[in-house]
Amino acid sequence: MTSRTDLVEELMSRFPQVPREAVLKEDLLRGGLAFDDAALTDNESGTVKPKSYFIFSFDHRTLPELGTAALRRPPEEVVLTGGPYELRRTVVSVRINPSSPYRVGTDGDGRLRLFLDGRPIADVGLPPMPAYYRHTLANGKSVMEVAPTIQWGYLIYLTAFRVCQYFGAKEECQYCDINHNWRQHKQAGRPYTGVKPVDEVLEALEIIDRYDTDRASQAYTLTGGSITSQVDGLAEADFYGRYAQAIEERFPGRWIGKVVAQALPRADVQRFHDYGIRIYHPNYEVWDKRLFELYCPGKERYVGREEWHRRILDSAEVFGPGNVIPNFVAGIEMAAPHGFASVSEAIDSTATGLEYFMSRGITPRFTTWCPEPTTPLGRANPEGAPLEYHVRLLEVYRATMDANGLSSPPGYGPAGPGRAVFSVSSFMDTLPATPS
Ligand code: SF4
Repeated sequence: MTSRTDLVEELMSRFPQVPREAVLKEDLLRGGLAFDDAALTDNESGTVKPKSYFIFSFDHRTLPELGTAALRRPPEEVVLTGGPYELRRTVVSVRINPSSPYRVGTDGDGRLRLFLDGRPIADVGLPPMPAYYRHTLANGKSVMEVAPTIQWGYLIYLTAFRVCQYFGAKEECQYCDINHNWRQHKQAGRPYTGVKPVDEVLEALEIIDRYDTDRASQAYTLTGGSITSQVDGLAEADFYGRYAQAIEERFPGRWIGKVVAQALPRADVQRFHDYGIRIYHPNYEVWDKRLFELYCPGKERYVGREEWHRRILDSAEVFGPGNVIPNFVAGIEMAAPHGFASVSEAIDSTATGLEYFMSRGITPRFTTWCPEPTTPLGRANPEGAPLEYHVRLLEVYRATMDANGLSSPPGYGPAGPGRAVFSVSSFMDTLPATPS
């Protein structure tokens, strides 16, 4: 039987133009990794920055199935270097899978290493606890709960609304566990604020601003579930917009403001821009029409695919095409029961979508699909998509960017192998290096 090491090395040699770091990173993101107990954190009282569960679970098991990792959180990210593949510095978001062939543990010399199939393949660095996580809000809430940072501290992730009003099998995106993640944290008795009060967000940002003295944090993302009716008496644009307005009034230009929201009508998008948001993510999730209808039934029902795309193009007139960065979830193109059966078909479809947007100056980006077990697609596809799909996607993504004269999108930090900090896919590790 082919080992995972064989698969990884075969793809590294078949696609030498894709950085080795990116091949490994994609495999870790799609399939997760296990942690020895000794490599877990001491939560918010330790020296290592713990996983914040900033929006989805991004784990391959539910919390009760994680064993010690449910009590002592894993780190938010790891940084990999060295080893037999001579890895340049590679930041990877942590997605726990106790049965993964990848395991983080200590070697005979007590050094933290990443093992694949039992063989050490990289040195592992852990994110230090940021000074701002050591302070709490006046009401006792932690900064990690209200304003966690990811991407090695680059991005403040503000999930203002921790659930989605696309609800149930007929509306929830079939790969998304936002609602389950909210339930499981509540059931575990963890603090997990459903709607974050604006004042708390501002207070947490003040703490970050005060203690992030080397100014590692460069951007914030305002996001959360879709709002199809109202939250706090506000429709989606006003709900998320009020945070942007308050942040930009209090900290004008301190961070690059980004919003992930539905593809909204132009007047709503204009309001985001007027509040000071600079980057808009109206995520289109998957390009193929049939898969969008089946896997994003709420988006299809409330907006519809063609209208969604039309609004993405409209928003480019408000923000400028370079500042409209819709996400897709890389891998669900191949998810059973309805996904493409071959890698080539899936890549061809994804490439059509990339060309559609990139030829108009809009640069989509992607996160690597994590098949969470409480989602319909995660249950049907616990292994996720083939690694070859992810590697070939990196190739076609870069080629389509090059063909359209585009460079790495703003708001993601430095690009290039050994430099990127974007942790939930390796597209930034694969693009030409930019200055940090
Ligand atoms: S719109 Fe879809 S992906 Fe986004 S939070 Fe709702 S269900 Fe999840």
